[in-house]
Amino acid sequence: MREEADVLIVGLGPVGAALAVYLGSRGVSVIAIERDTGVYPLPRAAHLDHETMRLLHLAGGAEAVSKASQPLSTYEFRNGAGELLMGFRPEGDLAPTGWPASSMFHQPTLEHALRDRLGGISCVSARLGHALSAYEESGGGIVATVAGPEGAYEVAARFIIGCDGGNSMVRRIAGIALDDLGFDEPWLVIDTVLKNGVTRLSTIGMQHCDPARPVTSMPMAPGRHRWEFMLMPGETPEEVSTDAKLAELVAPFADPASLDIERRAVYRFHALIAKTWRKGPVLLAGDAAHQMPPFMGQGLCSGVRDAANLAWKIEAVLRGRAETALLDSYQPEREPHVRMITGMAVMMGKLVCTQNAEEAAARDAGMLAQPEAARMNPMIGLDGLKSGVLAGGGSVCPEPGHESGRRLDDEAGYAALLITRDACAASRAFGDAGGAVLLSALLPDAEGRLAALMQGAPALLVRPDRYVFGAGEAPALVAAWQAYLATGLAEAPSAAA
Ligand SMILES: Cc1cc2nc3c(=O)[nH]c(=O)nc-3n(C[C@H](O)[C@H](O)[C@H](O)COP(=O)(O)OP(=O)(O)OC[C@H]3O[C@@H](n4cnc5c(N)ncnc54)[C@H](O)[C@@H]3O)c2cc1C
Repeated sequence: MREEADVLIVGLGPVGAALAVYLGSRGVSVIAIERDTGVYPLPRAAHLDHETMRLLHLAGGAEAVSKASQPLSTYEFRNGAGELLMGFRPEGDLAPTGWPASSMFHQPTLEHALRDRLGGISCVSARLGHALSAYEESGGGIVATVAGPEGAYEVAARFIIGCDGGNSMVRRIAGIALDDLGFDEPWLVIDTVLKNGVTRLSTIGMQHCDPARPVTSMPMAPGRHRWEFMLMPGETPEEVSTDAKLAELVAPFADPASLDIERRAVYRFHALIAKTWRKGPVLLAGDAAHQMPPFMGQGLCSGVRDAANLAWKIEAVLRGRAETALLDSYQPEREPHVRMITGMAVMMGKLVCTQNAEEAAARDAGMLAQPEAARMNPMIGLDGLKSGVLAGGGSVCPEPGHESGRRLDDEAGYAALLITRDACAASRAFGDAGGAVLLSALLPDAEGRLAALMQGAPALLVRPDRYVFGAGEAPALVAAWQAYLATGLAEAPSAAA
């Protein structure tokens, strides 16, 4: 039996599910296969940044997460004596996207929400218990062999997207190598459920940089708490994972009798980036394309950014609105962002993972030489987009009036947006080409967030992934956008002026 779809997504973790929703919301036919029938059972992401919450809102996954999450008040790194080495604190309750800077959550809640959302999209066939066995390129696309509960079958698709995690079969069959950024540390991770109606132990995310045993302590969704313990030389995963050992490890931080251990796992934290994210009809997203140590809480966030970058490009190519060259922009746009974050995560990881007492003392002396106020910083801001935008573009478009309860994202959905001061022929043409056109006069912008971006220009073009493409005259912006779709390269600003 052979089935056909525009896109075969392999893996319905959070990245594959978000990608399937984005593609499906734009009418692309998708078969999405997942070898397991349930969501991943072991502890993983606990933190989402505000940009990712916004992208998940566009995928219909943010509400459930938001109801079952809590904001992080501070992220602190303290030494074995409890002194503050460095810390990060959000400015204000909500970021300009209208979401908390950092939300602490429970990854299965998100995965269930996205899968529920997929159930309502008729052009997406999500298949649990179906595993990719093999695929080969054929006729400009691929033909894959899938092992389902009823036996094997084939899927022919124009694109196959590997969202199949760190050990990606899609990546291995394509022969894509990994760039190893040199981090490989073993950690025990436990998720706990607090007893007696206790909703939180702390709102602070803490790295205990104690060379005797580095430990991470993180609030999660209300009623849950995460600890991560670095394995010391000679320790095995088996011996640190026993109930007795877990109680001993938790005891300095909480009464082990006051909580139940829900999940436990020993991971090796890596920093790996695929050398190629697209090879003809084969694309990689999420952990299949990159893995990073969790010290920035950014692995899942990065994968959702991949999905948001990719889906509208695939749709534009399938509909003939864009050349396939547009897909070559995916890796150059996403990889620098991933490398920046991975580099910071490795830097933080090396700081935390120091097990040599002398090195730790030297580290502490250097950091404590700064006054305490200078060691507490605003929450780390992530880079904007460095390519695929006009000069002056690349920042994340804020939600202009989220305080009013009316969101730009609700009005526009996952589409490119042309925000104009008045309707014009160019904006109508843009709307006909699959973008959304909104009149800025109708958008609540009491804080002047849009006005600041427009800087007096009559129009602003925002990509579906919510990066600002540019500001200027609407006809010139639309022409520059169409040139970008055709080539994958954004025109120089003078061409759009
Ligand atoms: C301890 C820990 C803490 C973390 N903390 C954070 C955090 O705070 N914030 C954050 O953003 N990230 C964090 N991460 C990273 C985050 O969990 C991952 O980046 C994210 O889960 C990756 O999602 P994914 O969809 O790319 O891959 P996965 O979630 O791994 O999904 C891949 C899916 O593909 C399926 N699959 C594999 N092979 C096949 C096949 N042949 N056929 C069909 N299906 C297949 C798998 O069953 C799986 O469901 C953390 C990770 C760990 C380990």
